[in-house]
Amino acid sequence: MNIFLQHRTELAAADQIIDDLQVEHYSDLASRILACSDDGIIICDVEPVEGLGMRIVYVNEAFSRDSGYTFDEIVGKSLKILQGPQTDLATLIRIREALKAWQPIREEVLIYKKNGEEVWQSLNIFPVANQQGLFTHWVAMQHNVSRRRLAEAQVSHLAFYDHLTGLPNRRLVLDRLQHALPTTSRKHECGGLLYIDVDNFKMVNDSLGHHIGDELLRQVSGRLRACVRATDTVARLGGDEFLVLLEGLSDSLDTSASQVMGIGEKIRECIAKPYQLKQHTVDCSVSIGATVFQGQGEVVDELLKRADLAMYQAKAQGRNALRFFDGDMQSAMNSRVAVERDLRTGLKKDWFSLFYQPQVDSNGHIVGAEALVRLQHPVRGLVLPADFIAVAEETGLIVPLGDWVMNAACDQLAQWAAIPVMADLSIAVNVSARQFHQEHFVNSVRAALARSGARASRLKIELTESVSLVCLKETVAKINALREDGVCFCLDDFGTGYSSLSYLRQLPFDQIKIDQSFVQDLPSSLAACSIVRTIIALGKTLNLGIVAEGVESQSQQDFLKDHSCTLYQGYLYSQPIPVERLMDLRMGKSTTSRLFNGPAMLSQSGD
Ligand code: C2E
Ligand code: MG
Ligand code: MG
Repeated sequence: MNIFLQHRTELAAADQIIDDLQVEHYSDLASRILACSDDGIIICDVEPVEGLGMRIVYVNEAFSRDSGYTFDEIVGKSLKILQGPQTDLATLIRIREALKAWQPIREEVLIYKKNGEEVWQSLNIFPVANQQGLFTHWVAMQHNVSRRRLAEAQVSHLAFYDHLTGLPNRRLVLDRLQHALPTTSRKHECGGLLYIDVDNFKMVNDSLGHHIGDELLRQVSGRLRACVRATDTVARLGGDEFLVLLEGLSDSLDTSASQVMGIGEKIRECIAKPYQLKQHTVDCSVSIGATVFQGQGEVVDELLKRADLAMYQAKAQGRNALRFFDGDMQSAMNSRVAVERDLRTGLKKDWFSLFYQPQVDSNGHIVGAEALVRLQHPVRGLVLPADFIAVAEETGLIVPLGDWVMNAACDQLAQWAAIPVMADLSIAVNVSARQFHQEHFVNSVRAALARSGARASRLKIELTESVSLVCLKETVAKINALREDGVCFCLDDFGTGYSSLSYLRQLPFDQIKIDQSFVQDLPSSLAACSIVRTIIALGKTLNLGIVAEGVESQSQQDFLKDHSCTLYQGYLYSQPIPVERLMDLRMGKSTTSRLFNGPAMLSQSGD
């Protein structure tokens, strides 16, 4: 028998005895029977006292001990004496409904002790009938569950609040936004979102240390909170990004937009005041992206993206600025969504292909090719990487796409190995920073080589400088691991990134590729000439091969050749072409292709 029934039976029996004996010492007798219980017990009349609620006729010693009320103090009073400001109304209503229907009910209720202290009690309430089957009393048995509730509250605080600032975290604010959408629509109001990013936070962190960075974030949080109403949500999304959710704005979209703008500007100004961080006085600003919603057909993700995009525009505008999401951003966002969809479908339906752009040596011999990915869209036709690589990187789809490219390139190398005129060619594969930093990157390249049977020494990996910014040590270790297998590494787009000499010295590259922007200006621009000369000299000093990309004219080639550039790539020799065309070129079947502008330069190596 469960404890509930057992007590119920016991109490019914007790009630019976009480009725039978008709004794005057009602409470004495009941308390002797029930005093042994460790849990508090309250007995009330079934008839509520008008205006007072349920009248307590008996409490046991455990109850008095727990609540601080003596028997005499509480008997005759209404149960309401135990309620307080934080007692949940919905729970009380559920209890009242159950009582009305003579149903037993178990609920956890926040109860107030005599000294005002709050206690969570699990209440087990049930009616007790007399011999005639008429309900005469309600019995409530309580069990203190405060410790468990506290532990639960701590766990949920950890799960929903940011430990550094104490603000709601991403999960909680997105949940609130999800709830705000239907509420906003129902109340015919608008809501607003402000996506806030601290400008140059990394600089503070790097130059003054993480503890100062943390302190700055805490102070920024405090100021953000002070700029909005208590009913608005200020959350930390992570890092130096915050989100403010404003609810209950005007019923008009325009008015709400200016309300959001007003609050955004207030935030921007308030944040821009100097901060005292230990002994440092620091200036800080934020870039804010804003959007409004009416809860009609909008979804959380989309709203967040809108505000995020507007924030990026504010950054691009020069920081310390607020930008509203507008129609242009909407169309940019729509096309990004379409690109993402195409990427996903393309990966599933095999829409990708590799084009190859020959790399030639100073004698004009093709020694390899750079693999450049293309998306063959059934409606849009051939789509170039400029239209999808950035989205692939943002969405993480660059990882499966990069994997596909690596495998396709290795398959190609393996096929060429069986064709004597192609067997010597290498393939350069572009690898994005995000793909490179995948934990299993080295293994995935090894797997592609092993599966295809391609020779590692024919594979070249092109990385850009951004790869080394995250973690130099990890980057060096990964490059070295694959170099030991024979894979060669080339630093792409050299000159456009940080081009830090110390990085270059530490990163074990085999080649550097002069960015096409410098090559393009050769030989007319003196600046371009001296940059290219310097890069070539630098490469030679560090014993690196030098690849020039974007070579389009004879004069560019002549300049590069005069300065002993090692490899050449560009429209002067060939645009990126499908593999069959490359093989035709190599086999001498096609020397005057429309795309191939430099037959004089190109000949088969060794002939
Ligand atoms: P990149 O690696 O710097 O590739 C060189 C780009 O310059 C290619 O554009 C190529 O078509 C173009 N190009 C070559 N010669 C000339 C020339 O003489 N003049 C001019 N104006 N352009 C020339 P593409 O194929 O559109 O690729 C653009 C970028 O997309 C690549 O730049 C690379 O960063 C990225 N990309 C391409 N394929 C992949 C890939 O498989 N994975 C990754 N992660 N990125 C890729
Ligand atoms: Mg490249
Ligand atoms: Mg490049």
